[in-house]
Amino acid sequence: MSDPGDRLSEPLGRVLGTRTAGGLAKLGLETVEDLLRHYPRRYGSPGEMTDIRSLVAGEHVTVMAQVRSAQVRSMRSRGGAMLEAVVTDGQDTLQLTFFAKRAGVLRMHESKLKPGRTGLFTGTVGEYRGRRQLTHPDYLIVGVDAADEDEAMLEASRPIPIYPAVAAVPTWRIGRSVRTVLDPLGEADVPDPIPAEIRGERGLPTLLEALRAVHLPRDDAEWRRGRDRLRFEEALVLQTALARRRAAREELAAVPRPAAGELVAALDERLPFPLTGSQRDVGETISRDLARSAPMLRLLQGDVGAGKTVVALRAMLQVVEAGGQAALLAPTEVLAAQHLRTLEQLLGSLAHGGMLGGDERGTRLALLTGSQGSKARRSALADAASGAAGIVVGTHALLGEGVQFADLGLVVVDEQHRFGVEQRDALRARGDHPPHMLVMTATPIPRTVAMTVFGDLETSLLTDKPAHRAEVTTHVVPADNEAWLARAWARVREEVDQGRRVYVVCPRIDADDEAEEDALASEPPEGELDLAAAAADRPPLASVTQTAALLAERPELAGVRIGSMHGRLTPEAKDAAMSAFASGEVPVLVSTTVIEVGVDVPQATMMLVLDADRFGISQLHQLRGRVGRSDLASLCLLVSRAEDGTVAKERLDALAATTDGFELAEKDVELRREGDVLGSAQSGGRNSLRLLRVVRDAPLIEETRTLARAIVDADPSLSENPALASALETWLGDEREEFLERG
Ligand code: ADP
Ligand code: MG
Repeated sequence: MSDPGDRLSEPLGRVLGTRTAGGLAKLGLETVEDLLRHYPRRYGSPGEMTDIRSLVAGEHVTVMAQVRSAQVRSMRSRGGAMLEAVVTDGQDTLQLTFFAKRAGVLRMHESKLKPGRTGLFTGTVGEYRGRRQLTHPDYLIVGVDAADEDEAMLEASRPIPIYPAVAAVPTWRIGRSVRTVLDPLGEADVPDPIPAEIRGERGLPTLLEALRAVHLPRDDAEWRRGRDRLRFEEALVLQTALARRRAAREELAAVPRPAAGELVAALDERLPFPLTGSQRDVGETISRDLARSAPMLRLLQGDVGAGKTVVALRAMLQVVEAGGQAALLAPTEVLAAQHLRTLEQLLGSLAHGGMLGGDERGTRLALLTGSQGSKARRSALADAASGAAGIVVGTHALLGEGVQFADLGLVVVDEQHRFGVEQRDALRARGDHPPHMLVMTATPIPRTVAMTVFGDLETSLLTDKPAHRAEVTTHVVPADNEAWLARAWARVREEVDQGRRVYVVCPRIDADDEAEEDALASEPPEGELDLAAAAADRPPLASVTQTAALLAERPELAGVRIGSMHGRLTPEAKDAAMSAFASGEVPVLVSTTVIEVGVDVPQATMMLVLDADRFGISQLHQLRGRVGRSDLASLCLLVSRAEDGTVAKERLDALAATTDGFELAEKDVELRREGDVLGSAQSGGRNSLRLLRVVRDAPLIEETRTLARAIVDADPSLSENPALASALETWLGDEREEFLERG
């Protein structure tokens, strides 16, 4: 006896023959299940013809049209015969041409292409004597395969599935293969990942019914019902994977670090400002998490400048007071060094516990980076290993081999929501007890994306901004408008004369720098296509070295010192550039996106981003967050060559219109293709979301998340839900599960 599901894993070659299977393999379809999961992209309806006028020469198309005429002619001049047919959408016409040695071969086509019949025609649009035509198109005539006229009528009224296809395998050949594969299958052959009870409650069709509905629908309502159920299944499988991951983590015992409160209170007293309401609320939530024995995994989102650092510091102090250590990871060495300075400043004497002049309640800080001198590194390593340092600041190198902690209780990951699964595993493997984790990001993630990508994380949000923040005004400046630019440089001068600082951001380091600097693993700009098109005749992108040289020549900036900053500088040089800028010694800093996140210079009041269309929305929002960090009104100029009507221009206009990070995040999702939101891993291949759309399907994602948690609570190993378990395994696959963590 065969197991249920065996027929689904059968190779297509065995069912359809090697020739057909070979074609389908080009689409990545290997097994019966692969083929059945290759859902139609859309449905043609025999009543709705393709608009022939919109066809573009050179494009590969599938056209729904009605045959007007078809005639075989012999060609006296060349010998052989040709068939000319004309099809129409009711208004315009398209010519179909077939050639053959003998007329007989063409009679077969002629007998199918009867005037009045409707068909789907696939081919590359060509032009001959000013008329558009398809040469040797592949085609399907609706209803010709029917046994009798009634059936033909019925078939002619059915929606026609149109599959994602390639030239070698047209959509109806896929359709025919699907039918061959689907017809003999019974319910027992197609195990259903959705538990029967859930299906019953919601009146959902079985998997087999749903597959029949999407591949062989009798009407539109039927394929919609099938598609909705398959979408529900996708959401449920995805959420079950996330729920299991969460359950597995809760199994691990972390060391509870309950709040004693004294150290945190001592910090609060020292702070030069009152905490905002949401800093306080989120702080309480985290404090409760840390007191539990289940390891915390919390995503803290807060727009740039929302004050995440203080929240993290209060959490770290709770752990320190409870006898543990905390590690703060920054994405770059510049930021690690800055964090150290910030923490030292906030803690004051609390940062010198056990030292002369220090507060005895306090602790000590250590900085560990990959490139520091060996002496500094040795002493930092010793302080981490002995526990003398309660807080260790560094980059991801902190989690590398060779760094020992006496008792690591909390890891805070700053500005890096893409914190990888390897790093988390490395952490888990370090000791018996996994540390609590707090991941902080200023890149706003719409709630539904967070639930899908970070489904196993709990999320918190800093909603209110610290008081006394001035607005940042943003304008889009056309790069070819010399008068505008001159005014911009004059404005830079005014800011500097008032004791303020100005950032000038460029996409490249120097003229030879082909690859853009991407030090912070930020997302690539969206809309690569329109960039490529625009790249052909646009001037080279602004670089740090050229721009710095150019500014030194500008009469408006005579006597103003101009610094440079980019990822290729040594850590010392970066540090020096940052401090000279922060102190005002060098008030203009020309930089790449290394200043994108976290850098905090309150006197910075102006930013120019050159070739701003080269950056994505969230990146620009991050960059802009470097100004407006005090009560001084600030200005951001996005200098760009993007033309009106392009997606790039629309992004910049969105930034000029609002400073609300969440509004921008939604806009970002809207302007990107869905695949880019979740990462390229999900845009194709076997292990992918096919029907689910994270923004549109938010209610479904929430609903299935609750269901999935209940399923996993009741049946952690999924032994009572074997079909769901195997869907998780085969359908998501290792690669995909890893992707879930990585975002
Ligand atoms: P981000 O969330 O972008 O990491 P930071 O933690 O760097 O923001 O905070 C930005 C600035 O706001 C810092 O200078 C910080 O000291 C200040 N800040 C934080 N919390 C408050 C508050 N409650 N009131 C006033 N200023 C605050
Ligand atoms: Mg920060």
